[in-house]
Amino acid sequence: MNTNFKRISKLIPNALLVCLLLSLGNCNGDSEALAEFAFNGSTMGTTYHIIITGEPIDSKARAALATSVDSALLDFNRILSTYEDQSEISRFNRNKSTYPIHVSDKLREVVKTGQYFCESSGGAFDITVAPIVNFFGFGFEPGENRFPTVEEIDSWLQLTGCDKLEVGDSVLTKSDPRITIDLSAIAKGDGADYIAEYLMARGHQNIFVEIGGEIMTYGFNKANKPWKVGIDRPTFGGAPGADLQHVIQISNEAIASSGDYRNYREVEGKRISHTIDPRNGSPIAHNLASVSVIANTCLIADGLSTSVMVLGPEEGLKWLENIADAEGLLITRETDGSFKEYMTTGFKEYIID
Ligand code: ADP
Ligand code: MG
Repeated sequence: MNTNFKRISKLIPNALLVCLLLSLGNCNGDSEALAEFAFNGSTMGTTYHIIITGEPIDSKARAALATSVDSALLDFNRILSTYEDQSEISRFNRNKSTYPIHVSDKLREVVKTGQYFCESSGGAFDITVAPIVNFFGFGFEPGENRFPTVEEIDSWLQLTGCDKLEVGDSVLTKSDPRITIDLSAIAKGDGADYIAEYLMARGHQNIFVEIGGEIMTYGFNKANKPWKVGIDRPTFGGAPGADLQHVIQISNEAIASSGDYRNYREVEGKRISHTIDPRNGSPIAHNLASVSVIANTCLIADGLSTSVMVLGPEEGLKWLENIADAEGLLITRETDGSFKEYMTTGFKEYIID
């Protein structure tokens, strides 16, 4: 069974766009130090890292907890993974009906949030972008090794757009039988929220959940301080954590990032990004190299970071500045190869380096 949301190649340079600084947790001999249990695994074509601090957890309970997290992630993927043939989303994508299709509350909620991002970003974020993502080889179908024709782009534009999918009480309705959806831009973030809430519900209060670079936190690290997170400088081929742009601290909040430097392909000698501008049917073509967004949930942070990545540096920064309860750091790649950073007014409050 393949539970990937992303191409397997994302696994290779470990997908941490935002790296966690485990070592910075408790190096000052703080007397209030908490016990820590950290464990890792894989899901959605990438890795996850979880840290729980607080009361010591014995080895039997640790093993049970790690197993139960893996099984919660399998449940999550059974609904939302486009890489699982029998998942609810894959069945929805194959369903050619234009009558209302009954869906689970989970699928409906994530789609509804996707539609919210689509409407508020003027179509820059769009979960119906699947056929374009697939063409370029970043999706759940094998891609082409060429640029599309004008006719192909035109045909996609008939099949994409938030107006093509209606969210009802417990149903989704396609306006065209060929509409398919791709939730990869928000699934990792929602998964991080899902697992963090799952652990909270089991009585843990200090939780760090990271899935493929998207992070949700509650409470404090083992030094009884807010969680510290490193934001990578967006260098092509750079190892996660090797070169940091900033270190931030968060507690009870999430941080998610999108970037052009880890998941890309070469087509006809040109580097193309896995982020697509659904408004023109092409991979993004501006100089924004990475975006990191802090928000109350990782689902929101993830959707906002992808939206800004599509909108580009100027429009994206202005747009994000107007969104309540979200702050962001945008890093552009300049023609001389250097990086420039821009941030929303409140982002600097989080920086501790
Ligand atoms: P990452 O965190 O790996 O940079 P993102 O969260 O930005 O990834 O999501 C990128 C994925 O989202 C792509 O691989 C594709 O499946 C999907 N996608 C690409 N462009 C868009 C878009 N404009 N709107 C919604 N989803 C998109
Ligand atoms: Mg995203």
